[in-house]
Amino acid sequence: MERIDWAGTGWEELAARVGRVRLPGWDCTTGLVVGDGAALLIDTGSSLREGARLRADVRRLLGGDARVTHIALTHPHFDHVLGTAVFSGAEVYGAVGMDALFAHPGARDELCADAVRQGVDPAAAAEAAELLVTPHHRVCGEWTLDLGGGVQVLLANIGPAHSGHDLVVCVPGTRETVFCGDLVEESGEPQAGPDAAPRHWPAALDRLLALGGPDAAYVPGHGSVVNAGFLRAQRAELAARFGVS
Ligand SMILES: [Zn+2]
Repeated sequence: MERIDWAGTGWEELAARVGRVRLPGWDCTTGLVVGDGAALLIDTGSSLREGARLRADVRRLLGGDARVTHIALTHPHFDHVLGTAVFSGAEVYGAVGMDALFAHPGARDELCADAVRQGVDPAAAAEAAELLVTPHHRVCGEWTLDLGGGVQVLLANIGPAHSGHDLVVCVPGTRETVFCGDLVEESGEPQAGPDAAPRHWPAALDRLLALGGPDAAYVPGHGSVVNAGFLRAQRAELAARFGVS
């Protein structure tokens, strides 16, 4: 497989055939893992316009008529899911329960309202919520996704914690890369909204550390890539904040 040239694209190379970009506005991470004839996008941005930008980025990075074939949604918050509809034909994965949540009209309205509260243009939020893609595949426990060319990633359902449906993506390599969603935040304090399960959160980070191991690169939903030591410290802070051990 050919090397991907990430230089000058605004994307950060994390490992061979693994990268991510920090989107403007909420500093939300979108990840990309490239196999042979397949490309997995992790989260899709806060609007259809942002999704379209990501789609164009992938084309530019991979060349030709390359397209996103798989999408993993780390959790059902607006800044991670509202761009999904622009990736027609992609197989979408989410933690079990996210499909039922998105099938519910009230949940779409809430997602739209949350996006508007956070500063998304109301018309853009309404359009994206209207076209919201319900995950096609429900991940219970763990799911290995084969992207071809020897690239296999592990999707793991380790919520509820930051949200009701938290999915993480582990990419083996010389150094393991773990996309954590908002279970880990580096650029601000971890956000616990009304759908969080704070008492489960420290245990979810234990699980994350067990999946990635001591040497992995952990990619937060928001902020710079961190190491296992950062996760252990964030776990201790969350345990103290929520009064659990
Ligand atoms: Zn979130």
